Order: sequence, then structure tokens, then C-alpha cells
Amino acid sequence: ARRGAHGGGKRRLGVMGGTFDPIHHGHLVAASEVAARFQLDEVVFVPTGEPWQKSHKHVSPAEDRYLMTVIATAENPQFSVSRIDIDRGGPTYTKDTLRDLRELNPGTDLFFITGADALSQILTWQDAEETFSLAHFIGVTRPGHTLADPGLPDGSVSFVEVPALAISSTDCRDRVAKGDPVWYLVPDGVVRYIDKRELYRGE
Ligand code: ATP
Ligand code: MG
Repeated sequence: ARRGAHGGGKRRLGVMGGTFDPIHHGHLVAASEVAARFQLDEVVFVPTGEPWQKSHKHVSPAEDRYLMTVIATAENPQFSVSRIDIDRGGPTYTKDTLRDLRELNPGTDLFFITGADALSQILTWQDAEETFSLAHFIGVTRPGHTLADPGLPDGSVSFVEVPALAISSTDCRDRVAKGDPVWYLVPDGVVRYIDKRELYRGE
């Protein structure tokens, strides 16, 4: 990782958690924009294990979501992918993700990047107080959602406006199921991977 992009001091690591079923350009532009604004050395994408808030829905196998995330980020030297949530097994809690990442990255400040929709649900997350002590939170704008301070501890959240891409994984899955194209919504390699693995066909 490139150190000192911010001119010395502690390493700054962005954390982009998500189901990534599939990863799309909305995720990528949010990570890129926050990395530039906050002078992050690196952004690590962390695909969830069994996503507890979505356990009632069908979610693609973790290995497929992991590989699509690797394909989508491989060209960017500032982006990486972590298997920690997948390998831990069971539902993913953000506090476990952040705790593990802190252990793996001593002397590093963590910046957890989250879209407006996820941020508004933040107080329903498990152990919100502990979660907020582990990282600085960055709420990014997302079309169709209002970016509002959900009443979090002072100074624990920053807000960033990112280029508006009205793309969601749900819409990508629906499009594939209907036979509509997802070109230019997700990276080319992800289009080909979805096709190769026949993901989202029967939904
Ligand atoms: P789904 O429709 O399955 O919920 P999603 O598009 O919301 O998928 P997630 O994997 O749930 O993608 O999102 C991971 C993170 O990325 C969340 O914090 C979410 O708010 C954020 N995010 C997703 N899409 C965008 C977008 N288009 N612009 C900004 N942030 C986004
Ligand atoms: Mg979502």
C-alpha cells in the first residue's frame, strides 16, 4: 500500500463493506471519491458473510461475491479485498469487521464508508456504541436516499457527496433475470463473470 499519501502520520485505511451481489460502479465511485477526499492510502472492500439483515432473501454464494469484488478492483493499486467476514462465517456485524481489521492493521486509522441508506439504519446495528469507537464513519450520498445525521456521537461521522450513480445490486439482479443488459452498470469483467456462472438467471 502507498503510505503517506496524506503527507506522513498514521496510515489511513478506508473500509467498504457490502454484500456486493454484484459489485457495481456505485460502490467503486464512492470508494474512489472518499479515498481522494480523505487522502486514504488504501480502500479495502469487505464482502459480507451471511448478511444478517438480508437473511430472509436469497444471496449468492460468498465465493462468487468475493471473486466479482476481486475482478472489479484488481486494476486499482489503491483497492484491495478482504476475506475476513467470509472466513469468519455466520452473520457479519460491522464491529467484528472493524475489530479484526484493527488487529490486522496496527497503527492505522480506519474510515468506514457507508451509503446514505445504510447510514440511516446505523442505530439498529448491533452494539452501535462500540462500532463507532472503532472507526471514523463516512456517509456518502446515494440517489433516492436522504443523507441525514442519524443522531450519532459528535464528530464520529463525516458526510461526502459522491458522483450520483443510480445503480443498485437489486436492480442489476433484476435486469439479468429479465435478460436486460448490465453493461456499464458493473465492470466488464463482472458482466462476463455473471454470465459464466449463470448468476441471477432464475430470480
Ligand atoms: P442491494 O440492492 O442488494 O442492497 P446495494 O446496491 O445496496 O445492493 P450493497 O452491497 O448493499 O449494495 O451496498 C454496500 C454499500 O455501498 C452500502 O453502504 C451502500 O449504501 C453503498 N452503495 C451501494 N450503491 C451505492 C450507490 N449507487 N451510491 C452510493 N453508495 C452506494
Ligand atoms: Mg444495499
